[in-house]
Amino acid sequence: MAILRVEPLTTARALRGPFDYRRPEAMEAVGVGSVVRVPFGPRRLLGVVVEVADASELPPERLAEPIEALEAGATPELVRLGLWVAREYCSTPSRGLQLVLPPGTGTGSGGRTTRAKTELRAEIQPAGEAALDNGERLGSKQRAVLEALRAGEMSSGELATAIGSDRATLRRLEGRGLIATRSASVRRAPSESGLRGDADRPQLLPEQEEAVAAMVAALDGEAGAPTKLLLHGVTGSGKTEVYLAAVEAALERGRGAIVLVPEIGLAPQAVARFRARLGDRFAVLHSALSAGERYDEWRRLRSGEAGVCVGPRSAVFAPVRDLGLIVVDEEHDPSYKQEGDPTYDARAVARKRAEDLGAVLVAGTATPRPESWLELPRLELPRRVDGRRMPPVHLVDMREADPRSGPIHAETWEALEDVRAAGAKAIVMINRRGFAPWLTCRSCGHHWDCPNCDVSLIVHRHSGRLVCHHCAHSEGAPRACPECGSTTLSQAGAGTERIEQLLAERLDPMPVLRLDSDTAAERGAHARILARFDELPSAVLVGTQMVAKGHDFPEVTLSAILDADATLRFPDFRAEERTFAMVAQLAGRSGRGEAGGEVIVQTLAPNAPSIEHAARHDSAGFLERELTRREVLRYPPFSHLTRINLSAEREDKLEAAATAVAGDLRRALPKGSELLGPAPMFRVRNRHRRRILIKAEDRAGTVNAVRDVVEAKVGDRSLKDVAIGVDVDPQ
Ligand code: ADP
Ligand code: ZN
Ligand code: ZN
Repeated sequence: MAILRVEPLTTARALRGPFDYRRPEAMEAVGVGSVVRVPFGPRRLLGVVVEVADASELPPERLAEPIEALEAGATPELVRLGLWVAREYCSTPSRGLQLVLPPGTGTGSGGRTTRAKTELRAEIQPAGEAALDNGERLGSKQRAVLEALRAGEMSSGELATAIGSDRATLRRLEGRGLIATRSASVRRAPSESGLRGDADRPQLLPEQEEAVAAMVAALDGEAGAPTKLLLHGVTGSGKTEVYLAAVEAALERGRGAIVLVPEIGLAPQAVARFRARLGDRFAVLHSALSAGERYDEWRRLRSGEAGVCVGPRSAVFAPVRDLGLIVVDEEHDPSYKQEGDPTYDARAVARKRAEDLGAVLVAGTATPRPESWLELPRLELPRRVDGRRMPPVHLVDMREADPRSGPIHAETWEALEDVRAAGAKAIVMINRRGFAPWLTCRSCGHHWDCPNCDVSLIVHRHSGRLVCHHCAHSEGAPRACPECGSTTLSQAGAGTERIEQLLAERLDPMPVLRLDSDTAAERGAHARILARFDELPSAVLVGTQMVAKGHDFPEVTLSAILDADATLRFPDFRAEERTFAMVAQLAGRSGRGEAGGEVIVQTLAPNAPSIEHAARHDSAGFLERELTRREVLRYPPFSHLTRINLSAEREDKLEAAATAVAGDLRRALPKGSELLGPAPMFRVRNRHRRRILIKAEDRAGTVNAVRDVVEAKVGDRSLKDVAIGVDVDPQ
């Protein structure tokens, strides 16, 4: 008798399987990866079969049987992967498994409401033909149905529209043997963005050919061919074209592929190109699809009907058959790391999955991460496809600027006016949305802070409100100071709204479009703003980092970043890396057309290595230097980091818990690891916060120690008001 080991799908950290069930005869097909509903004490729970065994430690009469098996399940390979993620990122088996199950599976006693959609299809039978020919007695609807079916099979929906027949009509005809019906599945296909991708294959450049050849050699398992590769290509060097060729090579060899992109909304051009080139073999998985669409796309991949999946980080778990290739496009992008539990990094999961399956891993970017630079063999695409030079980057030192002249330097204004005179386009980026980040009373110095968080409220002119960027708090913008009644309030600093206003005033009549999470909040707004910018003969696009990503406008001759060191001021070891990528990516948006282009970088830190190297388009120089710095400071890739985040409403309770956790960790951590903190963080949503950081060489040992300590604390009732989260490999 077969025993099913079932891991319950639950959100409770304490409930941990697997539990044994008897497999009834009728469930022969149930195996590893199947989703089953099982009795669990007085309850019913969903669970995943993680193992099929011959015997249980419990006597057979003590074992229950599953109540039912759900329509679709994961594969054994995906079950292993989900459980690996759970271990690797200090999470629970249930949360790891949820990542690999069909979309909409659910947890607990709930369960999937999404199913395959079917329709009834009807076909005429010889008896039906005869009935028409012999003028047998038939109702008028019945006759009309038979006549329609003479031309070929139809669905009940089509018949209802054409004739007005209902199911009862069909049932009666079927009862008389005049037609036959069957139920067939219908695909709910994701709608297309409207952007049309080019289906033609360009003649690849020699360096593109070389990169594809290296990937093909890896696919073919040629001796000595590395199976993990870094495709380092400047912006516009034709990386996407290389991915497409590699994906086609995988398909020709009967293998599937996954292409990860940072955020699907930011990559409509790339998605359209994949769709146009791959046709039916293409599937897309992301959260903007309806539940039914996602489920159907997932099943098309699971069945092998589609062989290529494009999607954001969660697509790394796509059930692609015979997976041969995983591409991580823009591999430097922070969105590959999941913020919530499990805090997995899709780049690390891609690597693990590729290693387990003998698939090829390709990470591509213009601005590689130091980790990838150090660890992966490189393929270089050093020039733009169109043969144009990278645009010159001009650093503007804001330390010497007169603060009264505002956030846009005179040199930047001059360049913008040249763009207007030439009838061209410019992109202007600033790292903050809203109008102004500080509101203070000029008479008494009163300052507007968020009541729930230790941060300033940001003035949003457009909505007329003060908004907190860390919680949901917002309040009407004041006319007067609540302390002294003065009406002279000062709005200091600048955000996207202020820049938009300044540009519109000075550059009139050139249109100014703003792109940030406020203007892009509405569904489809992001693509609309970009489309409008594309159509206008001459315009300025101003916004946050969104303006630096994933698009290609040849008429842009100037890109400017107003606060290049804003990201540098974050107390984070990745600040340098982020700043470099941001400046280099923005620079890549300029000068893609005939008119060439330039880049202006306003900064208070013109000598910062990240900014200097980005200004010279010198990735190699930056990365070598950055790696040396990280080695000295023992940061990744020269160590592994684990962060423990604690928060509570009461600071005394939090302090006690943080001290206790740190003490337990010091005792439990493997030798050679270093514990920093607990360090206070600013309060958010009325919760005080503390952070503990561990640097270690022994990753597995650290994760195990952290798991034991944290689980013991989570079970400790005196700490029930303290939230404890673990972030392995924080970004
Ligand atoms: P990247 O991903 O490196 O930014 P893309 O692959 O998007 O670059 O290529 C930039 C543009 O150049 C695209 O419009 C693409 O169709 C075109 N392109 C790429 N390779 C070639 C080639 N070999 N010949 C002509 N055009 C190409
Ligand atoms: Zn005042
Ligand atoms: Zn707040």
